[in-house]
Amino acid sequence: MDQEKLIYFKGLLDEKLHGLLEEAGKVCSDMRHDVNGDFPDPTDRASHESDRNFLLRIKDRERKLIQKVTEALGRIEDGTFGICDSCGRSISEKRLMARPMTTLCIECKTEDENQERMERQRGARSRGTFPS
Ligand SMILES: [Zn+2]
Repeated sequence: MDQEKLIYFKGLLDEKLHGLLEEAGKVCSDMRHDVNGDFPDPTDRASHESDRNFLLRIKDRERKLIQKVTEALGRIEDGTFGICDSCGRSISEKRLMARPMTTLCIECKTEDENQERMERQRGARSRGTFPS
């Protein structure tokens, strides 16, 4: 991939990373605010707990995304950006535009998803055979 395109994708990823970090910061400060809140009613406290779990899940999801973006930026640095992790061929630019953090070309990704779907179907069938 030529330098100009790498710079373009780097910009794209940088922007994404900043957005995510900002969002994560917001969630963190919201949580601090909630923790200090006073909830005398147990019902309130229960819903407050699930709110906090929700926020923690978001944070977990964001943390993973932040990691993915950081890894993609690392791949730009070491020159492996845009190369499929699985087959070693280049990932199409169209795909990278839509998902700059991707590590798989569309063929490998499709294969991956088909396999996942098959495993899920197998799981569903075996659960059906042994009702709880
Ligand atoms: Zn591939």
